[in-house]
Amino acid sequence: MPPIIIPEKCSGCGKCVDLCPSVPPAIKLVGCPSKAVVKEPDACLECGVCKAVCPTDAVILFGEPSSRPHAKTQHKSLLNTS
Ligand code: SF4
Ligand code: SF4
Repeated sequence: MPPIIIPEKCSGCGKCVDLCPSVPPAIKLVGCPSKAVVKEPDACLECGVCKAVCPTDAVILFGEPSSRPHAKTQHKSLLNTS
């Protein structure tokens, strides 16, 4: 299941958007002031990167990051470089 973004908590920093590994990006900034929104839920890898990098705890992800090998690899490599 893709993440849920709590708009009241989102500062619009864009970290989740910058690091989302899916193609097309599952999460985008919209509006003014900007808020992160899941725009392409079917593309989401459920990797957990957006939740891990969010500085305001605005991302809710149900369950553990996906057990899909590709997603797990992305999750680890992205977090190790941040
Ligand atoms: S769980 Fe991963 S693929 Fe899905 S929106 Fe967050 S960063 Fe993108
Ligand atoms: S990382 Fe968190 S605060 Fe920043 S845009 Fe994404 S959801 Fe909003």
